[in-house]
Amino acid sequence: MQNSLADLSSYGFLGYPLLMAADIILYKADKVPVGEDQLFHIELAREVLRRFNFLYRKEVFPEPAAVLTKTPKVPGLDGKKMSKSYGNCVYLRDTDAEIVEKCTRQMASDPARVKRTDPGNPDVCPVFEFHKLFSDDETVNLVNTECRRAGIGCFDCKKKVADAMIRRIGPVREKIEDHLLHKDHLRDVLRSGSAKARMVAQATMAEVREAMQLPTL
Ligand code: SF4
Repeated sequence: MQNSLADLSSYGFLGYPLLMAADIILYKADKVPVGEDQLFHIELAREVLRRFNFLYRKEVFPEPAAVLTKTPKVPGLDGKKMSKSYGNCVYLRDTDAEIVEKCTRQMASDPARVKRTDPGNPDVCPVFEFHKLFSDDETVNLVNTECRRAGIGCFDCKKKVADAMIRRIGPVREKIEDHLLHKDHLRDVLRSGSAKARMVAQATMAEVREAMQLPTL
């Protein structure tokens, strides 16, 4: 309790969402791909721009809409939200061995399933959430059925998740490693992207100054 009060009193709780709002509205984004836990940030951005448009009687900023993917929330290894601060992440650059280690040793499962012979409940198990994200339908159905009648052990179930994650993450990791071998190209991409973004931002800021009747720079 004391902690949450201390946290809420920090400027970060206002400044961070405002910074995100600025990042969205400066570029006049009308659709923003986000995770479920960021919907609040989009709402705050809408509040900010509505207030601006109302105060200065000009529709400078369009209202952005959130775009959720089929997987709007990815759990961490412990079933909480996946976050670096919680130390519960699987990273795109993790090796196959690290992914297996994290899945089989760190991933939480149904806490009520104590013995191998106990039936489990996939609906409360974080491993099953990962199956739904990474495994094919056949495996998802198999786990869903076999877990409930103790037909599959948690270790084997986690191993299946690890294999599915490796199949999906492995090619991404290879691509990242390849990009890192061509850092000059990466810098060029960043430079040209930044130049394009600057042009859009400058045009928006000119409109903002005009609406607010501020002198142009
Ligand atoms: S078998 Fe799989 S889904 Fe069932 S409790 Fe174990 S880890 Fe979870």
